[in-house]
Amino acid sequence: MQKKYFLPEADIPRNFYNIIADLPFAPDPPLHPATRQPVTPEDMSPLFPMNLIEQEMSGQGEIPIPDEVREAYAVYRPTPLIRAARLEKALNTPARIYYKYEGVSPTGSHKPNTAIAQAYYNKISGVKKLITETGAGQWGSSLAYACQMFKLECTVYMVKVSFQQKPYRKTMMNLFGAEIYPSPSTRTRSGRAILENDPDCPGSLGIAISEAIEEAVQNEATKYSLGSVLNHVLLHQTVIGQEAKAQMEQAGVFPDVVIGCHGGGSNFAGLAFPFLRDKIHGREVDVVAAEPLSCPTLTRGKMEYDFGDSAGFTPLMNMYTLGHNFIPPTIHAGGLRYHGAAPLVSALLQHGLIRAQAFRQKDIFAGSTLFAQTEGIIPAPESAHAVHAAIAEAENAREAGQEKTILFNLSGHGLLDLSAYEAYLNGQLQDETMKETA
Ligand SMILES: *Cc1c(COP(=O)(O)O)cnc(C)c1O
Repeated sequence: MQKKYFLPEADIPRNFYNIIADLPFAPDPPLHPATRQPVTPEDMSPLFPMNLIEQEMSGQGEIPIPDEVREAYAVYRPTPLIRAARLEKALNTPARIYYKYEGVSPTGSHKPNTAIAQAYYNKISGVKKLITETGAGQWGSSLAYACQMFKLECTVYMVKVSFQQKPYRKTMMNLFGAEIYPSPSTRTRSGRAILENDPDCPGSLGIAISEAIEEAVQNEATKYSLGSVLNHVLLHQTVIGQEAKAQMEQAGVFPDVVIGCHGGGSNFAGLAFPFLRDKIHGREVDVVAAEPLSCPTLTRGKMEYDFGDSAGFTPLMNMYTLGHNFIPPTIHAGGLRYHGAAPLVSALLQHGLIRAQAFRQKDIFAGSTLFAQTEGIIPAPESAHAVHAAIAEAENAREAGQEKTILFNLSGHGLLDLSAYEAYLNGQLQDETMKETA
């Protein structure tokens, strides 16, 4: 018997899709913090290999995916596109809900899509070791896996609160051969400076990035690797949306609404950019980024040049930001605790091509519990924001009696986040909202 609600498979894409080629405006360049001039490839070369810097700055619409990368993708790609028929029924909605499920990857999220590509491009450049940061551990475990595939060493600075909340992610990284340190740590100057001020600091992605960069630039054969935000990361993730579009085409459907959760912007962009290409060329589609109310970068941040990390090591990027010193409350969706947003996603929001919505932690867990009970997949707390936004759209469609087609990215599963679900079931979830600063 066929899997009734699975859409037909698509080929693994042959190119990454670069939205910059189709944008109706020129994106603002990253600036050197000292000179405030656009950064040059040489400025970035201590951090990244030249082939990735070229992708970061490229305006070419299609960038071929190397065979070695497609082969590594073939372990889990193409990923399934599934109609959430049982969820639709539970919601009694006339809307059709589809989700692209990235949780089938070896680490349970979309992050290996870029980790594999980055490990490959570093490997062929002669790099020996990658250093990175991780929030909830999804990125660290994905880079650890990719480094193991391409025989690179890997060091990960993990945000301290997640290090304590998610011990199994640490095990996973160790299993894939990585070294892990809770951040802020005493290994770096930036970590020590934070600890002097606040010995109990729970950490943040911004701090962990500073630590990773500080270590990475000390040696020629070590490079830094970032799991979101940058153009080349978003580029690699477009395999998601390209597959989804081909799968929906085969089934004769096109979405009215496309939804992704938003931390730094990579899974959102990965699904949405190939559809935004159609939107830019005149096809109607509503594109929504879903974020937590406790770290509301897109809905309450300011569009301005800011650093990507807390110590100010990164170039200045024009993006929606809550300020690079913002330390978000310790919600369970650790991957959404980032003060900034991808400059490309920010520019699309500023130009009205996408919109953003923020949700409360308790509400998103209610939505993802209903999803688990109907679809049988337990969403990652991050992905639960997209689930919740999709449910809200489906409920609106019911009220309006509209036959909408909704597509969302189920960016990962929550099987290593069960402590968060336990807290929800026991009524112990804090409903943290952003601390007001004067
Ligand atoms: C890391 C992560 C996110 C958030 O990162 P983006 O770059 O915004 O995609 C979302 N979902 C899952 C499952 C993650 O691991």
